[in-house]
Amino acid sequence: MKVPLLDLKLQYKEIKEEIEKKLPEIFESQMLVLGPEVEKLEKTLAEYSDCKYAVGVSSGTDALLMALMALDIGPGDEVIVPTYSFFATAGVVARLHAIPVFVDSEIQTFNIDPKLIEEKITPKTKAIIPVHLYGQAAGMEEILKIAGKHNIPVIEDAAQAIGTQYQDGRKAGSMGLMGCFSFYPTKNLGGFGDGGIITTNDEKLSIKLRQMRNHGMEPKYYHKFVGGNFRLDAIQAAVLNIKFPYLAKWHESRRNNAVKYNTQFIAKGLAEAEGIIRFNDKNRVLLPAAVYRSGGAENYHIYNQYIIRVNKRDELRKYLADNGIGSEIYYPVPFHRQECFESMIPSAEKFPVADMFAEETLALPIFPELTEEQIEYTVKTIADFIEK
Ligand SMILES: *Cc1c(COP(=O)(O)O)cnc(C)c1O
Repeated sequence: MKVPLLDLKLQYKEIKEEIEKKLPEIFESQMLVLGPEVEKLEKTLAEYSDCKYAVGVSSGTDALLMALMALDIGPGDEVIVPTYSFFATAGVVARLHAIPVFVDSEIQTFNIDPKLIEEKITPKTKAIIPVHLYGQAAGMEEILKIAGKHNIPVIEDAAQAIGTQYQDGRKAGSMGLMGCFSFYPTKNLGGFGDGGIITTNDEKLSIKLRQMRNHGMEPKYYHKFVGGNFRLDAIQAAVLNIKFPYLAKWHESRRNNAVKYNTQFIAKGLAEAEGIIRFNDKNRVLLPAAVYRSGGAENYHIYNQYIIRVNKRDELRKYLADNGIGSEIYYPVPFHRQECFESMIPSAEKFPVADMFAEETLALPIFPELTEEQIEYTVKTIADFIEK
């Protein structure tokens, strides 16, 4: 049996008819950049994220970059980020010649550890970027409390988290000053290329972001500030508008797949209940948790990735590949070990949790169209490896 990590062709089949009807209309209109499809998408996603405004942009990376630019973050400023995330979270900070200040992760959820943030705050701290990694909200209550106390804006990196809810029901992108989303094809809502969106409840910021994506231009050929070309294509917006009505169903399928994995790992005696992190049995599988504290309220996790932690991870990955199962390592090198950030970290600083993740995490196939048989086969293959 073959189990790909992700098969977008199956999703395409579901929407193919609508796409083939819609895209020629865009071609005929020759309205290719911004325009009515982008406006429709912005309206839909502002509402979906419980925000007043949404600004369609060229990618998730550019969304983050623009959020920092909108706050005039530049040389010498510090921005607090988790050390364990996709590169863009820290890359955008460095691109503005500001300094990414790394924080270790929380063991249960892979997200930034709120308890370690305050000690990193200095008079130069200009923003905090929590990431809702893999589709699960970061510990926003504590993060917002610390940020509020020091009057520091919070930018949510919600690239993997469209529709994600924090345990109290608040939507990703609505809790901080701005929320940055990506429509990269592998995200839960993916375009046919690059795209992104920024959400906010701040009207002034929304206006600034709209100008910024078009070189800070308003009115035409008058520039109050320097922006960039961060515009979203009409074709991407049209595809996303077609996909959006399916999103809730796709989220639920991913969540069901996660439950199936968890149940089967537990039934096979390979794991304890999700969120239980106390055991340290070298021959077991640690399941992803959807809660911050055992017994606490659950986050609405959209499982952009389903991540287990295992011993002998690289050997397991090879064994899975040999048996036709795709898997991936997110992320093998935390920021504090990246060559490009070498000069930015005091050498004595340690990030033990992120280092452990880098050694132990493995993403298993979780896409909505995955079948029960494929999940069973994947769990069985992992069991065979562990018991081998
Ligand atoms: C995908 C991703 C981004 C960047 O989004 P792009 O659209 O690929 O530029 C940023 N942060 C995180 C956590 C991501 O997963």
